Amino acid sequence: MKKCFNLLLVIPFFVSAQTGKPKAVIGIVVDQMRQEYLYRFAPKYGDGGFKRLMNQGFMVKNAHYNYIPTLTGPGHAAVYTGATPSVNGVIGNEWYERSESKTVNCVEDRRFAPVGTATAGQGMVSPFRMLSTTVTDELKLSTQGQARVIGISIKDRGAVLPAGHIPDGAFWYDGSTGNFISSTYYKPGLPMWVEQFNQLKLADKYLSKEWNTLLPIGSYTECGPDNSRTESIMRGKDKPVFPYNLPELRKANGDLDLITRTPFGDDLLTDLAKAAIDGAEIGKDAITDFLAISYSTPDLIGHAMGPNSVEVMDTYLRLDRNIQDLLSTLDKKIGAGQYIVFLTADHAVADIPQDLISINIPAGYFNSLDVEKGLQEHLQKYFPGQNLIEDISNNQVYLNPSAFPEEPKSGGLNFMVASEVVAQFLRSADGVAEVFTKTQLLNITPAGNSVQDLLARGMNFKRSGDIVFTLKPGWSWAGGARANHGSGHTYDTHIPMLFYGKGIKHGVSYKYHSVTDIAPTISALLDIKMPNGCSGQPVEELFH
Ligand code: ZN
Ligand code: ZN
Ligand code: ZN
Repeated sequence: MKKCFNLLLVIPFFVSAQTGKPKAVIGIVVDQMRQEYLYRFAPKYGDGGFKRLMNQGFMVKNAHYNYIPTLTGPGHAAVYTGATPSVNGVIGNEWYERSESKTVNCVEDRRFAPVGTATAGQGMVSPFRMLSTTVTDELKLSTQGQARVIGISIKDRGAVLPAGHIPDGAFWYDGSTGNFISSTYYKPGLPMWVEQFNQLKLADKYLSKEWNTLLPIGSYTECGPDNSRTESIMRGKDKPVFPYNLPELRKANGDLDLITRTPFGDDLLTDLAKAAIDGAEIGKDAITDFLAISYSTPDLIGHAMGPNSVEVMDTYLRLDRNIQDLLSTLDKKIGAGQYIVFLTADHAVADIPQDLISINIPAGYFNSLDVEKGLQEHLQKYFPGQNLIEDISNNQVYLNPSAFPEEPKSGGLNFMVASEVVAQFLRSADGVAEVFTKTQLLNITPAGNSVQDLLARGMNFKRSGDIVFTLKPGWSWAGGARANHGSGHTYDTHIPMLFYGKGIKHGVSYKYHSVTDIAPTISALLDIKMPNGCSGQPVEELFH
């Protein structure tokens, strides 16, 4: 009899724990992560990080960005809105905003002031340029605001876009103070848990030690040699090699900002995530909460060193330990099996063109300054004395509407002739693959993944330029970073897409899925509305 009584007590508890909603969703975006990194570095990963997500969760192996450009702002917006730039409006990290006659950042909003720093320009941000709702917005709406939603990142856009329009807070790193900061868009001051976190001065502590490889450097057989000619050399060093003596190097490299170019930026963000779980009470009650984490430092290291460097491999081995740390914290604080994690990237990355050229793989450097100069000269032949180009950015040419005063709506004959002249000129430029006018792209309904389709999904009617071009596979822009992303080629579009936790079965899908499928999948798992611009579909293979 006693036994039966115990069973009665135990069973209802067990049932409710298994059928309720997850207590929290943890969204992880790794800035500049290739799907390939899950496998190439796997021999050196532990069992509790990436491999735990792969071995127990659901892996979408053929997940891609389905638009151009594959950049950070658009990537974060697409993951969380389930929409492409054509709808969510985030067409670049920066773009030429015709209505303001200037270049704007995707999260710039001069109506708001920084919170937690006096550094000029650091916190004047909001998500208002993102034109459709995020899955985090929808969670807030469906719970009458009761769900707690927090976004954190090293980069402002990595925190602001995922957190959506109505979060409890978004916090990002200020390299001039070493603090995590925010904007008056959210709250007039920092919450106590962020204040307390800042007082620990962890950035300073991380930078008071050396960055050496996590494992003995001789065991890094899944990447190239440490001293490669194509890696950037950090100021204060004469070779791009380990160890990096951070206490010495920080003076010449922006002091506390240096942490953003070391894997300790990921350690710091993991520390903040753990502080958020406690401080913002993520997963504490029956209402699902959402913590959006974006690891930015892999992008900064990747740009400088390239995807085949020891520095990038070491960054991922350390990030694997961060993920392990985070998951075991979630087990402890929220309860194993009581939360959902997804992990993806905002884009992947190209190989360094010179690394390919030196082994006879076709690649090249696109000299945008020369092409721009040539284009201006070419246009003078047809439209003498007129300033036809308003801006060139993100591989898009914006024609100057005031050059066509007789065609106030920018759609007349001269405008069309000028568009065609620009397009023809660009087609002749070295490294250019395809060129389309805005009119051509607006006339198609993207159904597949041709270059046209990717460009059409990346083009916002109001915001994008009038002529758009792409580069050949393997080609990047001359100058600037060593390794780049932004194209529609698979090395930029193919990203990890992992789901793990409550309601998600273990398995693998080889079907094509686009990044816009993440938000509707989370919506379906939470039984909430899909984001209002969403064009993706739930990944149906992962549901029980
Ligand atoms: Zn990025
Ligand atoms: Zn190196
Ligand atoms: Zn980048």
